[in-house]
Amino acid sequence: MKIFDIESVPGKKIFEFVDMFEYPHGTVEKMPIVIVQGTEEKPVFLLTGNIHGNEVHGLVTLQEVIKAIEPEDVKGTVIIIPTLNPAGLLTLTRSPFYDRSDPNRLWPDPKPKKEPKLKYEDPYDKNLDPLEYPSVQEVFYTKLAEIFSDVDYFIDLHCHSVRSFPFSYVDRVYYDEKKEGEKEESQKLFDKTLDMAKAFGFPIVLEDPPRHYFRQNLHRSTTGSFTNKQRKPGFTVELGASDIVVMDIIKSAKNAVLNVLKWANNLDGEPISIKTNPEINKEIWREIAIRVQETGLYIPLVKAGEIVKQNEPIAVVHDIFGEVKETIVAPEYGTILAFYDDIRCYTNRSIASFLTKNTVDIIMPWEYEKKEDKEE
Ligand SMILES: [Zn+2]
Repeated sequence: MKIFDIESVPGKKIFEFVDMFEYPHGTVEKMPIVIVQGTEEKPVFLLTGNIHGNEVHGLVTLQEVIKAIEPEDVKGTVIIIPTLNPAGLLTLTRSPFYDRSDPNRLWPDPKPKKEPKLKYEDPYDKNLDPLEYPSVQEVFYTKLAEIFSDVDYFIDLHCHSVRSFPFSYVDRVYYDEKKEGEKEESQKLFDKTLDMAKAFGFPIVLEDPPRHYFRQNLHRSTTGSFTNKQRKPGFTVELGASDIVVMDIIKSAKNAVLNVLKWANNLDGEPISIKTNPEINKEIWREIAIRVQETGLYIPLVKAGEIVKQNEPIAVVHDIFGEVKETIVAPEYGTILAFYDDIRCYTNRSIASFLTKNTVDIIMPWEYEKKEDKEE
């Protein structure tokens, strides 16, 4: 297969760089890519990391995967992009310095577009709309996403926060209500994606329900776009803390990647058992916010991944002298995904992400909002 001007070679592991765009001083930004091809082309598995430049666990995991797989063991093709954001890696920042928008919100938009109908004429209407003029980053990702049509499976590796445990984010699947059979097709796609995430072996968390998902542009994330535009299984993995490398995380993430390559038939062999919390792996979770009423300093009482019952204390808010101003309890049965990397808190703000059983539909129409009954 061909990616930009790089051609994979049957029976070879190739290491290349692709040109991304030109800098003002005339040099060209380059993105590293490894393609391991067996004797056949299919299936094609895409593995990417470090789109957020400070999230390095994915990058190092992929380096381990590159070492672990040889073309003679691979069936089909495995494409590995250790960093989707080389400039962000150099500055260890989420976004690259040349474009401060979130790079994981710039991928092809799967949502059917509604053109605004204006009651006036403006020859400069397009000129005023920044969304009509994609950044060099978005132009490059749009071009790179052309390979999605050849890719069968996709995993993008990220990091969440210091106190989080590794887990997988799976997107809801959206369908067009006017297209016959698309709802059923969406259910099948979700089932397959879930199967793939289970083979990976980490706890599974659904992305937010649509109102909040679209507001954050998550449908334009790497795997949000892949799943909902290409209609193929892909998901995002979150590997603990940013900025640093913890070898235990790398080891289990590498084994999880190898497991999913076996699931996809890119590799032979039995899956390796992954050390995770079996109690957490029983559920499909969704995230909710833990908010405080009092301003102060918050102290966790439980660890991320510890199962808690409804109303069990999970954190306290101290005043500056250490007096407890507020005790925060679990809103439901569930577990803390992560307390945020902070101690300060202000009234109404969220201090942690909490996982609870999902009760919201997973297969959703693009037009998820109820239409108001027109008043006569
Ligand atoms: Zn990220």
